[in-house]
Amino acid sequence: MYRSSQKEYNCSNSVKMTIALLRVLIRTGFSPNWRLRMHHPNLPLGGTCCCATIRFKLLATPIMVVACHCRDCQTLTSNAFSITAMVPTHGFKIIEGEPVERSLPKSQRHHFFCPSGMTWVFTKIEGIETRINVRPTLCDGSSWVKPFIETMTRDKLPWATTSAVHSFDEFSTPDEFQSLQAQFLSEEQ
Ligand SMILES: [Zn+2]
Ligand SMILES: [Zn+2]
Repeated sequence: MYRSSQKEYNCSNSVKMTIALLRVLIRTGFSPNWRLRMHHPNLPLGGTCCCATIRFKLLATPIMVVACHCRDCQTLTSNAFSITAMVPTHGFKIIEGEPVERSLPKSQRHHFFCPSGMTWVFTKIEGIETRINVRPTLCDGSSWVKPFIETMTRDKLPWATTSAVHSFDEFSTPDEFQSLQAQFLSEEQ
């Protein structure tokens, strides 16, 4: 009798534990490649500005996610730092609306905004035609957005900390960026 009730007890306990484990896995987005899924978006992924005049689509995995503490980013965002997902040019499409360019004088960075609500949507950098810097928190679902590097920390507000694994006083060099990009795309983050 004792044995039987002990067995039932063990059985119902293990069922409860299995259900609890499944709940945790579902909540954290479990899938066979869940580690990759955590910080890379499921594609294609839509996005929109604040007033929904501009709609875009991400069709390619970002090659890097960056937090930038520079003064331009602080003033453009009216915030402590900007967050950028660098997306291969072929992987970013405007599907509705016509963004307007409003660049800072003498800057090689060409910023594009919603013409209505003036949300900052993306940036093109002169001389770098292979990628677009997209504001990833505009995506429909941005839980994957997590800065891997942070730049211009010499301008950082003392309290402004991010998840970045690598920090740079200024910007990373092209050589450094190559290696960081490989880490970002391959490593478990
Ligand atoms: Zn808008
Ligand atoms: Zn910046």
